Amino acid sequence: MRSAVVVGAGVGGLAVTGALARSGWQVTLLERAERVRPEPTAVVLWPNGVRALQALGLGPGLAAIATPLPDGGVRRPDGQWLVQPRPAPADRMPVVVHREDLHDALIAGLGDRVELRTGVTVRHVRVDPGQRPAVSDGQHTIEADLVVAADGTDSGIRRQLAPESGVVSSGCAAWRAVIPWYRAPQLPDQPAAGEVLGAGYRFVAASLGERGSSGGSTRGGIYWVATAAGAPRPEPPEVQLALLRRWYAGWPDPIGALLDATDPTDLVQQEVRELRPLPRSYGFPVGPGGVVLLGDAAHAMPPHLGQGACLAFEDAATLASLLRETRLPDAVQAYDRVRRPRAATVVRQTRRMSAVLQTRGRLALRARDAALGTINSRLLSSAAASAAQWRPPA
Ligand SMILES: Cc1cc2nc3c(=O)[nH]c(=O)nc-3n(C[C@H](O)[C@H](O)[C@H](O)COP(=O)(O)OP(=O)(O)OC[C@H]3O[C@@H](n4cnc5c(N)ncnc54)[C@H](O)[C@@H]3O)c2cc1C
Repeated sequence: MRSAVVVGAGVGGLAVTGALARSGWQVTLLERAERVRPEPTAVVLWPNGVRALQALGLGPGLAAIATPLPDGGVRRPDGQWLVQPRPAPADRMPVVVHREDLHDALIAGLGDRVELRTGVTVRHVRVDPGQRPAVSDGQHTIEADLVVAADGTDSGIRRQLAPESGVVSSGCAAWRAVIPWYRAPQLPDQPAAGEVLGAGYRFVAASLGERGSSGGSTRGGIYWVATAAGAPRPEPPEVQLALLRRWYAGWPDPIGALLDATDPTDLVQQEVRELRPLPRSYGFPVGPGGVVLLGDAAHAMPPHLGQGACLAFEDAATLASLLRETRLPDAVQAYDRVRRPRAATVVRQTRRMSAVLQTRGRLALRARDAALGTINSRLLSSAAASAAQWRPPA
């Protein structure tokens, strides 16, 4: 039986572990945390992410927990439209999912053939020619035909195999929260959906399920994500929340009401970071097998287009499909050939969005405001088109 070691039990690692196990691989999943637990926030899945999960056989589970996200348009802080809401056909509409629901669906997809070991920090990957690849935590070595590095932005395996790729700050921090329905404000527009862009600041809101309905997400409420130029704040969550209220004061409804209804314990703050440059390869043949980079380990990017998890699912679906058709170590080279250009395209679109968001200075701002409507609308359209066009390999 073919064997794999997957390092990291984030969404990418869980998705690929389940896919390989369902194809008959013997999989060991190693996670450094003591418990495999997601953040209590949500994630937007674009059609490419949804298709990848369907290709992985997780479509029915996803349908039970996902809420369609209609296009709420993009406004400026003064309320003027930058991009009017455009009705999207059902197959182009993203969905929003609570991360804990998504996590449960991915865990349910693991089956009972996976060996999950928590509290194990991988410190080294063995890539000696003539030997099978292996990982080690400094005490034990585990050998396999395939090693999947799904160990996130700070991937130690990527540092070892692709040291040219470094982690840098994207120049902003992000705050997220899900306000449960019983505390969520009553909004005139339900479901809540929309985005507001200012100089260095962005706020996005989305409804998870419907108030008073048991359909959609089992952990419903209103999800919001705010990004702001600068570093994460060292203050306690209640002070961070007060700062957010000050930064977004006067922005269009329902931002103020959402921040007022947010409890400091709902708040998840994160520094936004990315890989620059991207690794020179995502697949490394090793003896008769190989090592691949997957998810944020391969292409961490700012969340401005909401594509990080979607690309991790694309990676997982592509790898599983290639491994059904192609033998190792050729499959790891095929994976690199398919995934690197795809990730580079999405990263390029995300960086253009970052540049628009981070425009500063009065003159630059005026020019940006003049151009933002068209740039942003074109950018969002091409990002949405590229998301919608992706198809899992046959
Ligand atoms: C504010 C924000 C909003 C976002 N919104 C969206 C969105 O709407 N849509 C979307 O598609 N994406 C979004 N993303 C991106 C998305 O969250 C990530 O791309 C995705 O979670 C990456 O998953 P991953 O499994 O690759 O990595 P991670 O989730 O980082 O998982 C890596 C795992 O590896 C483990 N690990 C690390 N090192 C080791 C080691 N040495 N040994 C063992 N285990 C190890 C870690 O503990 C962790 O569990 C957003 C990101 C941010 C910051």
